[in-house]
Parts: sequence; structure tokens; C-alpha cells
Amino acid sequence: MADKAEQKQQNPGAAKGGVTEITPQSENFSQWYLDVVRRAELADYTEVKGCMAIRPYGYAIWELIQQAFDKRFKATGHVNAYFPLFIPASLLNKEKEHVEGFTPQVAWVTKGGDEELAEPLAIRPTSEVIIGTCYAKWIKSWRDLPVLINQWANVVRWEKVTRPFLRTTEFLWQEGHTAHETAEEAQEETLKILALYKECAETELAMPVVDGQKSESEKFAGASRTYSIEALMGDGRALQAGTSHNLGQNFAKAFGIQFQGRDKAVQHAWTTSWGVSTRLIGGVIMTHGDDNGLILPPRIAPYQVVIVPIPRGNWQETVLPKAKELQASLQALGVRVFLDDRDSQTPGWKFAEWEMRGVPLRMEIGPKDLEKSAVMVARRDTRTKDSMPMDGLAPAIVAKLDEIQAALLQRARAFRDEHTTRVGSYDEFKATMEGRPGFVIAGWCGSADCEAQIKADTQATLRNIPFGGANVTGTCVKCGKPSPAEAWFAKAY
Ligand SMILES: [Zn+2]
Repeated sequence: MADKAEQKQQNPGAAKGGVTEITPQSENFSQWYLDVVRRAELADYTEVKGCMAIRPYGYAIWELIQQAFDKRFKATGHVNAYFPLFIPASLLNKEKEHVEGFTPQVAWVTKGGDEELAEPLAIRPTSEVIIGTCYAKWIKSWRDLPVLINQWANVVRWEKVTRPFLRTTEFLWQEGHTAHETAEEAQEETLKILALYKECAETELAMPVVDGQKSESEKFAGASRTYSIEALMGDGRALQAGTSHNLGQNFAKAFGIQFQGRDKAVQHAWTTSWGVSTRLIGGVIMTHGDDNGLILPPRIAPYQVVIVPIPRGNWQETVLPKAKELQASLQALGVRVFLDDRDSQTPGWKFAEWEMRGVPLRMEIGPKDLEKSAVMVARRDTRTKDSMPMDGLAPAIVAKLDEIQAALLQRARAFRDEHTTRVGSYDEFKATMEGRPGFVIAGWCGSADCEAQIKADTQATLRNIPFGGANVTGTCVKCGKPSPAEAWFAKAY
């Protein structure tokens, strides 16, 4: 167990080295976010405006998120491939809505070495175009369908205002691109992926999401229908955490993806595309974090447990071997453990450091703990500390990690529910939006005018229309006309 002096150093602001200098959320949430990103060494700014360096700790989180999604894609029959970074200008211009939607954000390559290119190359803002032209070559018959391909890649969208992970000019993501024989199969795929996204976000990231359909004005450029998962951040703003698009035959017609059907007739394929990105890391930070920094759900924590040996007496002969033994027993059960035996830092510094970096469990072990055959275990989410017996410790720690994972989801869900208000009138809508941030559920007639007016009046955008909304026979909160479904509104990132 740590002595009194060391325990004092756990208090926020007491640690040396500036590790706890994080702006409180209540003071400035946006600054808090940037402080956490940099202090926890998730990412840093670079010489390229709007482009971040993802540091090893941040990248390790991304790798775990990638694995979680990738495993699910493969389990549902998808395979990975890789397509080029560049798109010839003439190809990008083929799908009219798509090009109009993306043109303001496209970066271009116009020179190769000293030579002007005959045709400028766009750097992919997304890959429907380049993948569509490949599918046009690869798909000939109904026997070639479905094509279920995913790509892990970087994309570039020229952004004016950027924020690490949430909106950057270059970012990492996955983009699934599938082609199907029938409209029904494409729709089934679109919704299957949306459900997969929801399940993965909630199970792995402990981030509760609302799944539903986007309005016409918020849908993907060139899609027939767009669906999204929307999460609520700690400041009450919504974050679009993933999208799944039913592209109908729009891209198949633009790029000539045709096949001979079972009836021998040549027809266009039905395609989908869907993606999640490094934005999810921003979502995790803002869903779970507190004034002491990051709080990571165990399933995506690079270190689920950090062991801090207390250096007292001949600790290297007594405490350290026991700490190593504990580390090995945890690793044997698949737990990601870091034994922080650096003698360049005090235990108090380490406590504050790993707390700020969001490690779910911290284990403290000193000579007194050895005498009692116990260790002190501190939880990051509740900041509570318990003595746990060494006997049977590893399985008990695994159970505790599961408990934390579940508690974080529950806490985030309770927060989301507390910050979700169903309103009956437009005055109530406006008052709620001005008062407390969060989701507002309201009837909506389906008109883009009402949607635009609501946005102009309140800054709230229509996030999505969840499946099976309750108020199916209600009226539009803006114009009073019949509302076929309820929509969820929020100010969003
Ligand atoms: Zn209306």
C-alpha cells in the first residue's frame, strides 16, 4: 500500500510534470478535449494544417477498435482489399450528386515531378468511384454476386475547421463496398451493417448509440438512403459515429456495374457503402472522460491494468518479483498489463499519469501488501480503491474489467437518457435546445423546409429518424402537419 505522502500525490494538481493540467470540463469542454488528446499522448498537431500525428497510445486504441470491427466484418462474410489513393478527374465527375457533394473538399494532384499531369488526380475523399470502376470489370454474372469487400485506408477531405480525431483533413477509416443482385439484398446489407456498428460501438466502446435513417438533406452524396448511428457526448452534443448507405443503382449506372441476371437479362447491380473512422476515438474520449482525463473502456484500452510497485526497502528483491508474477498470471488470461517499474518516477506521479491516460485498473503493490498477501486495486471509472487478496487475483481482475465495461455503458446510457427530451411544441423545442444540451425528440413532417428552419432557429440538426419511433401518428413540431415518424435533433460535432 502507498504511504500517506504518496497518496496525497494522487490528488488532482498535486502530481509533478504537468500531467494533471487539464482544463475542467465545466470550464471549457472543448479545451478539456484538446488537453486530454495531447496530455494523454493520443495525437499531436503537425506542420500540415488539419493533419494530426496519431501517437502510439492513440494508435494502439485505434488498432483495438479496428480489430473489433474487422472481426465482425469477417464473421459476416466480408473480405478486405486495397484500392488506389488517386481518382482521375474524369471518373470523379461521373456520378453527378456525388461529385457535387464532395467537390468543395477534394484535394488534387496536378503535377508528377516536374510535369503537369494530362488529367488531374483527386486524392480519394471516399472510394465509391475507384471501387465502382473495378466492380464494373469484376462483375459479369449473377454468379459473381454478392461482392462484399472492405478497405482499411486513409482519405482526405479538405476541411476548414479541424479538431483532432473529430474532423481532420486526412483521417483513417474503413469503407465497405458491396454489390448485390437485388434491391432487397442491398437494403438488407445496409441495415445489417448498421446493426453491426451499433452492437460493436456499444459492446466494445461502451458508447450507446441511436440508430436510424438520415433525412434527405443529411444523406450521403449520391446515396438513395443513408442510415447512421448517433452518440451523445459529455457536453450534450451529438456525434455521428458511423454511416451505412444504400446506393441503389446510382453508382452502378454511373460506372457501368452490370451483370447478366438469372433471367439472362443484363441489369445494373445494387450497391452499398459504409464506414467508421478514427472519429470513434474522439467519441470514446467525450463519452467517458472526466476532469482527470481519459477513461477507457477495458475492451479498447491498450493497457487494461497497470501495476505500480512501491519502492521501499529491498523492493527489488521482494515486491518486484511478486509484481512480475502477477503480471504473468494476468497475461496468461489475456489481460493487457503494463508493469511500471521505472525508477525515474515516483509512485504518486505514476498514479496520476495512468489515471489521466484512462487505464481501467491500477494495481499498487508494496511491502505491506506482501505481508497481507494482498494488493490495492484502484478503479479509474469510480476512483474507488480496494484491497484484493493475491489468491485468485487474476480471474477476479478479469471479472472486474467486465464489470467496468458494463458500468461505463450503463453510465453513458443513463447520461444519454437524462439528456433526451421529447417535446410537443416548437416553443418547447426552442426552450429545450437553449436550456440543456442533448437530444430533442420531436415529430417531423418530412419537409426539408421545416428541417432547415429548425436548424436556423436553434442550430440543431436532424440527427436521424430511429426505427420504430413511438410518435408515429403525431404532428410536425414546426408546421403542425402529420408526422410519419419522430426525429432526433441535436447540436452536433
Ligand atoms: Zn413540418
